[in-house]
Amino acid sequence: MLLELVDVEVAYGAVTALRGVRLTVDAGEIVTLLGANGAGKTTTLRTVSGLLRPRAGQVLLDGEPLSRIPAHQLIRRGVAHSPEGRRIFPSMSVRENLLMGAFHDRKHVSTDLEMVFGMFPRLKERIGQAGGTLSGGEQQMLAIGRALMSRPRLLLLDEPSMGLAPLIVQTIFEVIAQINATGVAVLLVEQNAAQALRIANRGYVLETGRVVLDGPADVLLADDRVRQAYLGED
Ligand code: ATP
Repeated sequence: MLLELVDVEVAYGAVTALRGVRLTVDAGEIVTLLGANGAGKTTTLRTVSGLLRPRAGQVLLDGEPLSRIPAHQLIRRGVAHSPEGRRIFPSMSVRENLLMGAFHDRKHVSTDLEMVFGMFPRLKERIGQAGGTLSGGEQQMLAIGRALMSRPRLLLLDEPSMGLAPLIVQTIFEVIAQINATGVAVLLVEQNAAQALRIANRGYVLETGRVVLDGPADVLLADDRVRQAYLGED
C-alpha cells in the first residue's frame, strides 16, 4: 500500500473539514476523489502532502506515519502535489518553473526536462516565456510538468481541468493516463466526474467531510446516486 488514510479528521479551527476518512492508494493506481464544493477534496490532498496535520487518525506512506516524515522530506519520498489554481511562478520562465520542481535533485534534470517536453511539446516551444503569460491550459501543463520533475511515485492533482476549454481538458486527461502508464500513482480531485472515473481505477465520493461511497470506477460510473449527483443525469 502506497498511501493509507485511517479515520482521518482534519479541522480548520472550529470548522471540521474531514471526518473519519478512510482511503487507500496502491502503487500505480489512479484514484479519484469526487464531491461537491466544500466536501473536503482539497483538504484531503493538503493533508496527504503534509500541509495540514490531522486532528485524529493517521496518514501512512508506505506504512509509515506521515507525522514522522518532515514535510520537506515528502518530495524525496515520492509525493508531489499540483495544487488547485495551478500556482506557478508567474514571473519565472517555463524552464525556471520546471527546475523549481527538481530542486531536491539536479542529477536527472536534463533527462526529466526532455520527458516533460515529450509529454507537453507546447511547453518546449515556450521554454523562455514567463509562466504568467501562458494560457490557462499551458499553465496547467506547467504545473503538472513541475510536479513530474521530482520523479514522484504519487502525484496529487487538484482540479487539473478547472476552467479549461474542452479540447484542452481532453489533452490533460490523456496526459494523466500517460503519466500513470509510466507507473506513477495518481490521486485526482475533479469536478469533471465522468472523465475522471473513465481514467481511474477506483473512486471515493466525499460529502461534508465523509466518504459516503467508494468502489471501482466502473461501478461508480453506473451508480444511480453518482449519476444523479455528479454526472448531471436524472
Ligand atoms: P471545492 O471543490 O470547492 O474546492 P473541496 O471539496 O476541495 O471544495 P475543501 O476546500 O477541502 O473542499 O473545504 C472543505 C471545508 O473546509 C469547507 O467547508 C471549507 O469552507 C472549509 N475550509 C477550507 N479551507 C479553510 C480554511 N483555510 N479555513 C477555514 N475553513 C476552511
